[in-house]
This record gives sequence, C-alpha cells and structure tokens, in this order.
Amino acid sequence: MSVDGGSVDRREGHAPGVVNGVVSGAASSNQRLRLNPSKEHKPESYEGLQLDFSPSIFSSLERYLPPNLLSVPRDDKVKFMREILLKYLPHGERNRVQKQREYRQKIISKYQPLHREIYTMHPANTFVPSFLKAISDNTEESFRSIMSEPSPGVFSFELLQPSFCELLLSEVENFENWVDESKFRIMRPNTMNKYGAVLDDFGLETMLDKLMESFIRPISKVFFPEVGGATLDSHHGFVVEYGKDRDADLGFHVDDSEVTLNVCLGKQFSGGELYFRGTRCDKHVNTGSQSEEIFDYSHVLGRAVLHRGRHRHGARATTSGHRINLLLWCRSSVFREMKKYQKDFSSWCGECLREKKERQRTSIAATKWELLRREGESTT
Ligand SMILES: [Zn+2]
Repeated sequence: MSVDGGSVDRREGHAPGVVNGVVSGAASSNQRLRLNPSKEHKPESYEGLQLDFSPSIFSSLERYLPPNLLSVPRDDKVKFMREILLKYLPHGERNRVQKQREYRQKIISKYQPLHREIYTMHPANTFVPSFLKAISDNTEESFRSIMSEPSPGVFSFELLQPSFCELLLSEVENFENWVDESKFRIMRPNTMNKYGAVLDDFGLETMLDKLMESFIRPISKVFFPEVGGATLDSHHGFVVEYGKDRDADLGFHVDDSEVTLNVCLGKQFSGGELYFRGTRCDKHVNTGSQSEEIFDYSHVLGRAVLHRGRHRHGARATTSGHRINLLLWCRSSVFREMKKYQKDFSSWCGECLREKKERQRTSIAATKWELLRREGESTT
C-alpha cells in the first residue's frame, strides 16, 4: 500500500508545531507568550502583508501574545511575533517557505486570470443556499440536516453551485493553457498525481483560506474535534484530473491533512468512485479493514465529501469522460504538535479502538473467571 502522508514533497503553509513550540516556553525581549491562548480575543488578519511566514501563523500566534500586546498596532505585533518565529523555524524550513513565496509571486506576476470574481470569496455565488443556511445556523443539527454520513466519519453534502464549478473549471483550463504556452514549469499537487494544478500557486490562496476558516472549520469542529478540527489553520488547495490523457486512478493512501474536503467539479464521466477503508494512526496504517469500514462513494457534481486525512482511501479508474475534483487538505499546527506527545489515539484509529476493546474483553473475561474461581473455593 502506498501511503502519501510521509512522502508528499509539496508541503504547504507552515512547519507543523511551530506555534505550539513557541508557546511552550519562548521569551522575546523580556516579554513572554502566555501558556494558554486568549479565547475571547479575535486575531487580526495578516493577509496581504509581505511576510516571510504564512499570514495564518500570525493569526494563530496572536492569541498567545501577552495581554498588553493585544492592542498595539498590527505592525508592532508582527515585529514581536516574527522575532519569535525566526528563532524556532529551522533554517531549511525557512528556505522552503521563501522559495515557495518566490515561486508563487513569479506565477501571479505573469498569469492573467480569466474570472477575477472567483479570487475573492462571494458566498452567495459560490455555495448552494442549503449549505449557507446550515453554516449561518452553526449547530450540529443544522449541519446534520444537510449531510449524510453513509459510513462513520465520511460526510457528504451539496456544496458548490454548478455555475461556480463551471467558472473554476474554466479558470483552471485557462491556467493550464498559459502553462503550456509560456512553458512555465509548474509543480504538481502531490507525489501521486501527474496532472492537476495547485490553486494556491496562482492566486486562489486567500479565497481558499476563507473557505477553510469560515465554512469548513465550523463543521470540522463538530465532527472531527479529536484530530484538530477546531484549530485548522493552514491548507493545501488543488485540483486533480482523471480520464483520457490524464491520471487514470489513484492508489490507496492517506492524505497529509487533518481534514480533507473533496468536491466534484465535473465534467461528464463514469467510474472514478472513492473507496474508503477505515481511519488509522501511523502505527496501524497498513492493517486490514473491518467489514463495516468498507465503503464506496460515487461523485456527484457540486457535492462534497469531508473526511479525516487519516481515513484510508483511493480512487477507482475513471473509465470514460473527464473528471476534475477540488481538494482542500486542511491542517492544524496545534494538533500536529500535540500528536508528538500523545500516545493514545484510540478515539479515532479503528485499529487502536479494536485493540482497546479486545483488551477490555480479555480483562472482563479474566475477572469473571477469577470470581468464579473464588466462588468455587468458598463453597468447597
Ligand atoms: Zn492505531
């Protein structure tokens, strides 16, 4: 089985764990960060600034600032936080972030977008009304009312308007034509897809960040709290293409994400089903599946599937036509840092859970046997 989690060479956003590493004991000048984030404080947006770290890192870190720094001008906060971040981000990682920014800048300065309206988030033009209503109600009941959970941990719901799918497809096509004509060498979305494009690389990063923060995180907070669903703070957004002259299928793997959003954008196709085989931790990623974990999903235009990144899956061959899907890998730096210290994953790994139940069963059986034995002793 091929597992993508460890081998993806296109990591995005920031180094997992940086934020928390800082929190656990950094001092800059003589001001210390607080140990627990301020829950009431609403961080500023750091979008649009020329920074050497992702804007979302600054927003995440802001809640940890000493109280007297929360109200100072944004530039002063940036200065303070940058100083701390520079101490903690390894040199290689800093280089990688720097190279990626230059790569994106180069593309954005040369590529002429076709549909500028999709580069900023306009919820009413993007999402179907039922989804918007559920998000604005923001309760588990409202989310459940528009979703099905055909297999534990796999949620499916109508998300994008067909007209938005069409615009996005046309933009991707325009970008690919530009790549062909300009002979610009682009990086593909991950190690497993030869075709497809990274949407963040040609200007859609801010829009997709908004999609994650305002629309996917509220849902993940309810359904995937145990894998950092409430603290998603960076993403990798891309499209994959299957069919003739494109990738045929996609092998069995896990994603380099805490939560994955997968939306079918079209066009006409047959085949291409997603197959799911249970959620696993690193240790158990190659173990077998239980019958209740086996589930196949057929894509429908505009419809989304939301699942944990560690939910093992693959895509069957697209047998005719052309299928294009939008993928948003959502990540939580807090969760990644916690994972280093936390040994017990039983709440979300199917195999850990099975082992735990087995241990309980054995211990109950042993206790019963012991009681029977004592009873036997006392009656003789
Ligand atoms: Zn496990």
